[in-house]
Parts: sequence; C-alpha cells; structure tokens
Amino acid sequence: MAGKQKSPTKKSLFEAVFKHSVEAIVILNNCDRIVEVNLAACKLFGVKKKDLLDRVIADFLTSTLDWQVMPERAEIKIRQPQGKMKLVEYSQVRDILPNYNLLTLRELSNWQRAAIAELNLHNQRAELLAEVTLKIRQSLHLKEILQTTVNEVQKILQADRVLIYQVFANGTGMSISEAVLPEFKPILEVEFPEEVFPEDYRQLYSQGRIRAIADVRSADANLAECLIEFMDEWQIKAKLIVPILQNSQAHNEVNGDRLWGLLIAHQCQATREWRDGELELMQQLANQIGIALSQAELLENLEELVAERTVKLSQANLNLEQEISDRLEAEAALRHSEEQLRLIANGLPVLIAYVDKKQHYRFNNEAYQNWLGLSPTEIYNSHLLKVHGKEEYQEIQPYVETALKGEIVTYERDLMFQDGSMHSLNVTYIPHIQEQDLVQGFFALTSDISDRKAIERMKDEFISVVSHELRTPLTSIHSSLKILATGKLGSLSSKGQRMLQIADEQTERLVRLVNNVLDLQRIQSGTIKMNKQACHTRELIVEAVQTMQTLAQEQGIRLLIEPGDFIVWADRDYIVQTLTNLLSNAIKFSPLESAVVISAVTKPQPKKLHSNSNISHITFAVQDRGQGIPQDRLESIFERFQQVDSSDSRKKGGTGLGLAICRQIVEGHGGQIWAESCWEQGSTFYFTLPELIGSDRHD
Ligand code: ADP
Repeated sequence: MAGKQKSPTKKSLFEAVFKHSVEAIVILNNCDRIVEVNLAACKLFGVKKKDLLDRVIADFLTSTLDWQVMPERAEIKIRQPQGKMKLVEYSQVRDILPNYNLLTLRELSNWQRAAIAELNLHNQRAELLAEVTLKIRQSLHLKEILQTTVNEVQKILQADRVLIYQVFANGTGMSISEAVLPEFKPILEVEFPEEVFPEDYRQLYSQGRIRAIADVRSADANLAECLIEFMDEWQIKAKLIVPILQNSQAHNEVNGDRLWGLLIAHQCQATREWRDGELELMQQLANQIGIALSQAELLENLEELVAERTVKLSQANLNLEQEISDRLEAEAALRHSEEQLRLIANGLPVLIAYVDKKQHYRFNNEAYQNWLGLSPTEIYNSHLLKVHGKEEYQEIQPYVETALKGEIVTYERDLMFQDGSMHSLNVTYIPHIQEQDLVQGFFALTSDISDRKAIERMKDEFISVVSHELRTPLTSIHSSLKILATGKLGSLSSKGQRMLQIADEQTERLVRLVNNVLDLQRIQSGTIKMNKQACHTRELIVEAVQTMQTLAQEQGIRLLIEPGDFIVWADRDYIVQTLTNLLSNAIKFSPLESAVVISAVTKPQPKKLHSNSNISHITFAVQDRGQGIPQDRLESIFERFQQVDSSDSRKKGGTGLGLAICRQIVEGHGGQIWAESCWEQGSTFYFTLPELIGSDRHD
C-alpha cells in the first residue's frame, strides 16, 4: 500500500504553476511598475528578476508606450539589454486584484512573424485597393486617378518605377503617369517606338495576359534584342506588365474590351521574382483603371451633351426673352391702340356698341350715357330688352334677328333723349362673322340724323311750294303757246314758228319736271296712299306698252311682251307709271330698229335678298339693247337728279327724277328695284312686287 502522500496546498500549487509556466507572466501595479515576474518572463526580457522588479515596463520596450491605453491583446517589441529585439504577443487582464494587472507574453515564431508580415502586406494592399477604388469612384479626373495609382503601387510593391503607358491606335504609345525613385531616370512622356511594342505583344495584352519578367536578360524572358537595349537605357532589370482594358460598352465596341494601356512596374536595382499577391494587386488596380476610363469617357460625353444642351438652352432662353419682350411691346402697343380706339369711340357723336349673339351688350361708348342717361354698368353685360325696355325692344327685335343671321341692316327710328327731346336716329347693325360663317354678334352704329331730317323736310316743303307756284303760270304759258302755234292769232314767219316750237318743247319739259318733283315729294312725304289691289302683271304691262307705243314707233323701236301672267298686290296706276317710266328710258336710250322686251317672272329669284323672304315675289324686267350704264353708276342713277351723262336732260328731254320716283313707288310696295347692264350692249331694269298666291287671290 502506497504511503499516504500529503496533498499540496493551493498556494504551493499556484506558486509552482507561476514558476514553471512557459508563458512569461508579469504582474504590474497601477503605475505600470513590475511587482512580480516568473522565470519565463526573465528569460524573455533577458534580465534577472531583481533587475526587473519595481521597473516601469515601458523601459524594456522598443517604443515608449503608454501602458494605460494599450489594448488587451497586441504585439510589441521587447529590447533585451544586448540590443536584441523580440517580437512578442501579449494579453493583459486588468485588476486581477485591486490595483494589480496581469500581463502574459509569448514570443512569436519565425513563421508566425512571416505570416503576420504577409497579412500586413495583404491588408496594406487591400487598403490601397480600397483607397484607389474609392478615389476612382469619387474622382472624375482621370489624370489624378492615374497618378494616385502609380504612387501607391510604387510604395506598396517597393518597386523602383511604376508607370502607366497609353497605347495609341498607330501601334506606338507613351508613358503618361509615373512614380519613380529619384535615383532612376524618369520615363514620363517618353514615346515608345513601335519595335519595342510589337503587334504580337499587343494581341496578348488585348486578351488580358499579364507578363511578369523576373530577369529581362534571362533566356526565359525571350525578349527581342532591341527591346533589351531599350530597357537598358532605363536600367530595367525586372518588370511586371498588366493590361488596362476599357469596357467595350462605353467605347461602343462590339468585340470585347479594348486595350487602352498598360500598368507597368520596373525593378532597376536588381532582378525580382514577382509574387502572386503582387500580380493580383496589379490586376485589380488595372481593372479599376478600366472602370475609371469608362467613367471618364461617359463624363466627357456627358459634359459634351451638357455643353450642347446649355448652348441650346441659352439660345432658347434668348428666344424666349425676345419673345417675352416682343409680347410685352405688342401688349403695350395693343393697350395704347385700345386706349386710342376708346378715346375715338368716346369722342364720336354716335352710339357705338357691340352686342353678342345672346343679345348682351359687350361694349358701348360714352354717348350711351349722354343720350340714354345710362351708366356703363347698367349697359355692360345687360340684355337689349333690359336696356331698351319691352316696347322699344319689340321695335328693334326684327332688325337684331336679321343682323344675327349675318345680314347688314339699316333702319331709322325716333328716340326720346334723357333731356326729353325727340331725335331721329339712323341705326346700322353690322354682323361680326367668324370662321365657318358663324355670327358671334354685331356692331351697332347709331347716329343722330335729326338735323338732316329737318333740312330734308324744309327742302321738301320749299320744293313743294315752289313747284305749286310754278305750275299755274306754267300751265297758262303752255296754253298760250299752243294757241299761238295754231296760227289763229296771226301767222308767224318760219323762223318765228321754229322759235315757238322750241318754246313749246321746253315748256312741256318744265311742266314734266314740276309734275315729277311734286309726285316725288308727295310719295316721299306719304301724303298719298297707295290703293293696293290684286293686279294681273300682264294687264299692267299691256297698259304701259300701249301708253308708250306711239313714242316707240316714232323711234322705230319694237316693244315685245314675254309670255307669263301672275297676280301681284299693287297700286295699278303707280305700277303702270313705273313701267311707263322704265319703258320711256329704254326707248330713249335704244338704237333705231331695236327691240325692248318686257317680262314678269317668278324665277329667277330676285337678285337682292328680301328681309322677309317668306313672301314670294314677281320680278318685272325691262330689257333694251341701248348704250348701257357704267357699273359704278348702277346704284346712283336711282338718286334724284342723277344722270349718267349730264347732256341727257337736253338731248333726251329727261329730268333725272324718273328712277327716283320708280324706287319710291316700288319700295312703297315692299319691293326692290335695280339695274344690270353691259356697256354698249344694253341694260335691264328689274323690280319686284309681292305675289298673291292661293287663298290671297281674289280675281
Ligand atoms: P331721266 O329723266 O334723265 O331719264 P331717270 O331717273 O329716269 O331720269 O334716269 C336717270 C339716268 O339714268 C338717265 O339720265 C340715264 O343717264 C340713265 N338711264 C336710265 N335708263 C337708262 C337706260 N335704259 N339706258 C341707259 N341709261 C339709262
């Protein structure tokens, strides 16, 4: 039986562990002073325990570190008294007992050190890549990106020269960015001759092939003599070449990426084995440059587009400004002309208004206020009925409706002004017609013709009085001349007889003139009433022809009546007088042996529109083959004392009143009269009378 072994105390156990631990253990107080160390620690620091105790730990480290802020785990370098450095990894536990900290340290092995160095390099590269990538993403300046890349690559690879070489389309190229150590010759902006960059190399690079040459002179490198010579000039001993390919999408190329250039690292001091990590880094950077190139190209296109667009926009802006100023000018001119128009409209002694198709006033001048005693607000936008009252509106309504149908209407009426005086007004409605013949409204022009009416009345009265006074002596002169002509009062010499005949003819003419003046005046003043009844057109025509037959025969003129008979509502005597008048003119102006044709027809319809087109009319026509009437006189001959040729009165014995009387008679029947003519081919005089049809007929 084994002797009973005494189990160690916990304290002795911990002391043994502390003493034999392969890990170096250091206990620090709060002031970073060493209070306890184990054997492994003494070995690691290379000093005896007594030399360590009570010393500040930082004294044994390569760099002065503030231990209070050191992380829990990290690497540090220890300096042994003999000057030897040791890379160690430590871990720290604070306050294992109040105010005491535990530090355990372990020396790192060679492979660990190498791995860490590799890791650091890797991290550095990753950082560089991230940094360059970020720059490429952020910067839009290609030159800056390329320079950053060569600078960083040179540092990280510890290469003697790093450059970016741009390939030109003609096979040559040039170094456009460079980072080179000061002791070596710069290659920046040097153009490479075509021989040093032959087509087969270019082909390979275009496919993305990387070339890593450890020794340019070795047989493996298989470089052409001229290329080696070229490299000697720049002291190149080893080189690493990575193609920079530009994205085909940005470059509009269909077949793959385009070889834009090369990222090249040179080693000039010695030959160099390029490591995989280095190749990889160069490759990644070349890819990033490719992206940057595409971005730059896009940016360039964008800038061009922006510039183009800016030019267009500024042109458009200029045009717009011009347009605005033109429009403002036009508006100002319009306002000015509107103001002037308003001034003119207000200054005129006539009523001017615009009435829309719903019969509302849309414009009126100031005369409305003065004449009618209405304010602008009482007129504007008000219906005609409201402005004029029921009675007056009923009076003007037919004319308004005619205007809104698109016809110009003129009428006269009397109106009491606001001062109580009566005035005669002449009113004209002119329709406002827009495209597609749509009537939008009408312009109403009303002028005060009271003065003219008064003068006309005075003139008529004067003529009437004078004519009456002339008629009696004229009749007795005429009778006396007739008696003298019989020779009962003694015979006259042939010269005396001739004089007597002239006196007789002229007196007859004077009698006719006085009769005509009186006729016209009577009809115009309405002192005689038309005795209208149903009349056969044929009877009227025959009667007129019979009256004029003798005269016609004297002139050798045939009077021809066209067939056709209708019934019209007319004063027989006056219509016969009208026809006689027209026949007398036709005979007067016809050449010898010609014919005058008289007709009455229902068709063709009268040339001029009747305001009341529901009533059918018969058109009388008297056609001759005479000298004709000029176009510009066709209207005026219906005015009083109007003759085409002033000698007509002498030659033809006319008075210039016949057609004026005819017009009064025809209009008194609700008809119209007009003439059509071809110069030197003859004239036709037309007039219309209302036809009696169906139950209206009483014959
Ligand atoms: P007058 O008594 O002068 O004929 P009217 O009023 O009847 O007066 O005619 C006016 C003028 O019209 C005539 O003077 C003449 O110049 C012209 N006229 C009228 N009828 C004819 C016609 N049939 N042919 C040519 N001219 C005519």
